[in-house]
Amino acid sequence: MEVGKVSNEVTACRKEIKSLAQFKLVWAQKLLVTKQTEKEKTMARPQIDKNKRKSCNFCADKVEVIDYKDAQKIRRYLTEAGKILPRRITGTCAKHQRMLAKAVKKAREAALINYVYD
Ligand SMILES: [Zn+2]
Repeated sequence: MEVGKVSNEVTACRKEIKSLAQFKLVWAQKLLVTKQTEKEKTMARPQIDKNKRKSCNFCADKVEVIDYKDAQKIRRYLTEAGKILPRRITGTCAKHQRMLAKAVKKAREAALINYVYD
């Protein structure tokens, strides 16, 4: 009788140990996952989608010549202070940026837009 009781206890103990081991394993996995996500949160930079590039608005509209008289359109490519916005912000292509710069300067000369806005 005694021996059977002891063996029963041993098996129970073993079961407990097994469950404890499983618990530890699960816990470790959880920890690993949280660690990874934390790492991702801190390390990961916003992925720049290369397929989602800024495209030139003038190219999209197939503009051959930028009209300097169209002040409303030109003002979209200026800062609040009246400076010409760089290509890297507006996404304008080199060709159209050159045209735009000339158009802006012409429009300023013609007093259609201001040299400075304050
Ligand atoms: Zn363009």
